Amino acid sequence: MNDIKQYSLDELKSAFKDMRLPSFAAGQVFDWIYKKRIEDFDKMSNLSKATRQTLNESFFSAYPKIAERIKSSDNTEKFLFELDDGALIETVLIPEKTRTTLCISTQVGCRFNCKFCMSAKGGFKRNLTASEIINQYLVILDLISPKRITNIVFMGIGEPLDNYDNLTKAIDILQEPIGIALSKRRLCVSTCGIIPNMERLVKSYPLVKLSVSLHSAFNDKRTKIMPVNRKYPIDELIKALKSVSRIQKFPVTFEYVLLSGFNDSKEDASELARILNRLRSKVNLIVYNRSSLDFKSSEEDTIRQFTQILKAKSVTFTLRRSRGEDIDAACGQLRASWKK
Ligand code: SAH
Repeated sequence: MNDIKQYSLDELKSAFKDMRLPSFAAGQVFDWIYKKRIEDFDKMSNLSKATRQTLNESFFSAYPKIAERIKSSDNTEKFLFELDDGALIETVLIPEKTRTTLCISTQVGCRFNCKFCMSAKGGFKRNLTASEIINQYLVILDLISPKRITNIVFMGIGEPLDNYDNLTKAIDILQEPIGIALSKRRLCVSTCGIIPNMERLVKSYPLVKLSVSLHSAFNDKRTKIMPVNRKYPIDELIKALKSVSRIQKFPVTFEYVLLSGFNDSKEDASELARILNRLRSKVNLIVYNRSSLDFKSSEEDTIRQFTQILKAKSVTFTLRRSRGEDIDAACGQLRASWKK
């Protein structure tokens, strides 16, 4: 038995062909599952009885349990999913005026061990399957009203580019025109900077946005909080991103979490500006979401001083107040507190 949501449309067509099912039935199944939101083969009324029977014998449709659902005072909602093997992952829904963004996890745990992030604390367990990635979207869409998710960011637990094949399969399914039909421009992959897979992604999916977690513009300092910087140091990252931005024809986005007394000084701001001015870019400054780790969020005055320097040096930036702080909405926080 195979999970039907592991298949892109092309893969399902060829699986159907091998099973001597009509290939147009693959399109019909896609329409039922992803557009009409019916997963029970017996209810797919335009399929022949024989086709439905074969589907029941060969496929199942996994549907993860929601272990917890919490709404923040700012309307951000956090969902804790329990997967078949008991693993826990988090998904965050962020409704705004003009769009509703879903922040999706791609792994159980994370290998990269960024010092300020809760996701790595329990270690790395496994990659999510394409179906587990897609199900975060489908299950939440089934629950909410209005049924509207306009943007997806792969910014939850895990490193998406460390699970490349399942990530791209999920992207293929999300953007399939006869199914969910989400525009690739509405997808964003956040990465700690795995250069080879960044380049691979951009070549195959030039419209998918990339967001690079930088968190310090000084190489040694970045290594201290992001061990991945030893393998892919800032200079190489910037060089790679210059060609990325040439291919994509839009600016590269960086994420920069402001950590009090660590990366929020005047010097940090100037160095950040110097680096960002080497390419077409913008930076999202993120106010650190409180956690049990050794870092604190920056003071208001320090943040103001930081942004003034960026402004003076013509850096494009946004300052993101943490959303969902009262519900532990940052990476891996809910999962960590639930397990305790
Ligand atoms: N591995 C990917 C995606 C997951 S992390 C990456 O590194 O980009 C998503 C973003 O949340 C990263 O920029 C990460 O640095 C940031 N983050 C992690 N913990 C946080 C916290 N407690 N408060 C604010 N942002 C946090």
